[in-house]
Amino acid sequence: MPNRIKKLAVLTSGGDSPGMNAAVRAVVRTCAYHGIECYGVYRGYEGMIDGDFQIMDARSVKGIINKGGTILKSARSKRFRTKEGREKAFQQVKEAGIEGLVVIGGDGSFTGAMIFNQEFDFPVMGIPGTIDNDIFGTSHTLGFDTALNTVVDAIDKIRDTASSHNRLFFIEVMGRDVGHIALNTGIAGGAEEILIPEEDLGLDRLVDSLNRSRTSGKTSSIVVVAEGDKIGKNIFELKEYVDQNLEDYDVRVSVLGHMQRGGAPSCFDRVLASRMGVKAVESLLEGKTTYMVGLLNNKMELTPLDNAIKGKTKINLELLRVSDIMST
Ligand code: ATP
Repeated sequence: MPNRIKKLAVLTSGGDSPGMNAAVRAVVRTCAYHGIECYGVYRGYEGMIDGDFQIMDARSVKGIINKGGTILKSARSKRFRTKEGREKAFQQVKEAGIEGLVVIGGDGSFTGAMIFNQEFDFPVMGIPGTIDNDIFGTSHTLGFDTALNTVVDAIDKIRDTASSHNRLFFIEVMGRDVGHIALNTGIAGGAEEILIPEEDLGLDRLVDSLNRSRTSGKTSSIVVVAEGDKIGKNIFELKEYVDQNLEDYDVRVSVLGHMQRGGAPSCFDRVLASRMGVKAVESLLEGKTTYMVGLLNNKMELTPLDNAIKGKTKINLELLRVSDIMST
């Protein structure tokens, strides 16, 4: 492998997701394997601007593969959105002799990385870390699988109380623009209905469907709602509508919120993070830049950052049909 790079850096940026630590570990250890010095940058682009980074060796990432969150901390940096801020960041990495950067984050973080590359001709590589699975160029983002397991676990627990009291639960899960979490966990958790941003079920159809469930003998119901569902009502307004239009229903709401982002990464996410970390570093060492590492057909593939940012992920229509059939 041609290897002119001697020093790389890694940072985590935007919202945290399970598996980020495993990816940091993989980047650091791949650098060590190839005899490259690796810097960990704290607080995302904020730390880059402030020169808040330190050398990490293979041992400094021990015991973190199973930890949620990110040991490097994450941040949203207003300063990095300005030319002045990015110039400061460039001065900092230049002074430290850093010649390439691995950015673990979402599409906002990738946009920052792309602009940084354009302005300073600085090699960058992205690893998609977000639970929403809303990034083009990978079948799975880091943290998605763990979040699915966390949500299914929560749905199972809520169903216990729902069936004990003959209740209807609306459970809100993350997914402002995409319904991947809602669709998958709705099927896995046996939800009667799943409301996602990509599909407009319509309030009347929802009420009809719940009525049918009740008359067919169901004693409890779960409706999984993505934050950004097409009906456009927030989950409490939905509850109110159903309260007013369905008699004899004891409706409750549960908003799962930030717990979906936490916890130990699943086996799948740890393996994915390890593969992505290796691919990101080795791609930079091969002289490649401005790509995102992704999983496509179970292979590590590179997608230009620009496409990863602009491309839209599509909901799996087969899963939609499966969920329709399952709620019969
Ligand atoms: P999440 O999926 O959690 O939203 P994200 O990476 O999309 O993660 P953002 O807050 O959108 O999170 O972006 C993270 C950081 O990337 C921002 O705080 C900012 O520092 C940088 N960034 C985003 N957009 C730009 C931009 N247009 N120019 C420069 N930097 C940017």
